[in-house]
Amino acid sequence: MTQRFLPYGRQSIDDDDIAAVTAVLKSEFLTQGPEVDRFEAALCAATGARHAVAYSHGTAALFGACFAVGVGPGDEVVTSPITFAASANCAAYLGARPCFADVDPATALVDPAALARACGPRTKAVIPVHFAGQPADLAAIAAFTRPRGIRIIADAAHALGATLAGQPIGAEPFSDAVIYSFHPVKHVTTGEGGAVTTNDDGIAERLRLFRNHGIERRGDHLRQPSPGPWYHEMQLLGHNFRLTDLQAALGTSQLGKLDRFVARRRAIANRYAAAFAGSALVRPLGHRSGTAHAWHLYVIEVEFERAGTSRAEVMQALRARGIGTQVHYIPCYRHPWYADQGWNPADFPCAEAYYARALSLPIFPAMDDGDVDRVAAAVRDVVGG
Ligand SMILES: *Cc1c(COP(=O)(O)O)cnc(C)c1O
Repeated sequence: MTQRFLPYGRQSIDDDDIAAVTAVLKSEFLTQGPEVDRFEAALCAATGARHAVAYSHGTAALFGACFAVGVGPGDEVVTSPITFAASANCAAYLGARPCFADVDPATALVDPAALARACGPRTKAVIPVHFAGQPADLAAIAAFTRPRGIRIIADAAHALGATLAGQPIGAEPFSDAVIYSFHPVKHVTTGEGGAVTTNDDGIAERLRLFRNHGIERRGDHLRQPSPGPWYHEMQLLGHNFRLTDLQAALGTSQLGKLDRFVARRRAIANRYAAAFAGSALVRPLGHRSGTAHAWHLYVIEVEFERAGTSRAEVMQALRARGIGTQVHYIPCYRHPWYADQGWNPADFPCAEAYYARALSLPIFPAMDDGDVDRVAAAVRDVVGG
């Protein structure tokens, strides 16, 4: 009997999601209609934020958030190297310099002390990443950044459904802006899509303008007297980063299932943790107390060398058993575009040690307990111990 292939992550789409999209296809507006407002309201409810601004991609949301807090040429922006490149690239789009700070070896979250050391007089913003779905220590980070006027953009692409300081991820008191991604591997999907939440009215305004070419139509926000009903103004250099109504309707439908999706991810993570509890060679990545983890990824750290094997061999052996794994992430500074700017792996010993051991196992809501047991048994068999 061949068992179904388990990727490291995948979307869950039901008939009601399909019906929500089909209804938009039959409606008046495929884009710039009412569905984006509905999705943004649902996002505010899910994240506890005052404002939500939907974007075409999480990457565009990061770009917009950097713009909205004022990142520009000559500035520096510090992020974690253990992230998707988009968390750093967004600063470069605006002519700023992306910089990296080493991670906490226990969690692979950015280390607040290292982040503070990486900040200088040009640092405009920091982008802590809620890696794997676990909130970074924003209280410690804000204690350093606030008195210096450095803005915090939280990359919560992994963390929809997480809590920090007892608050849902969009309502915590530390960030100026929080970004999300709705790529199919994330908690809820719109195909491609993203959003920024903020509790700051001014940042929300700039996010909305940036998403739509910088065009303002509201009469009381125009800079020049309006000559007639056609009149609008391009007030800043923005982009077309709009989410379509098709995508927004899918997102609203998916958000209705967020609690169930996150609960299932937590149950899977608990089952993995129990299965690896006795292993000398496999250790689940650690987590901080006082936060509710949203489990976008399930990362184990494996002593490949002590096990007498390599990560490539383990990944191939698991794939042969129908189990997909991935490495999150190749540290950003190792990518040639960043290496060419002079970043040196030796300056990030904790990120390097993490990268040598990390492996992401399948975790997505449609996995049943038998799938989890099958993955855990295969990992222990292939690694040994
Ligand atoms: C997925 C992701 C993004 C980018 O989101 P897209 O929607 O794919 O553009 C940014 N940061 C992190 C940490 C991500 O995982």
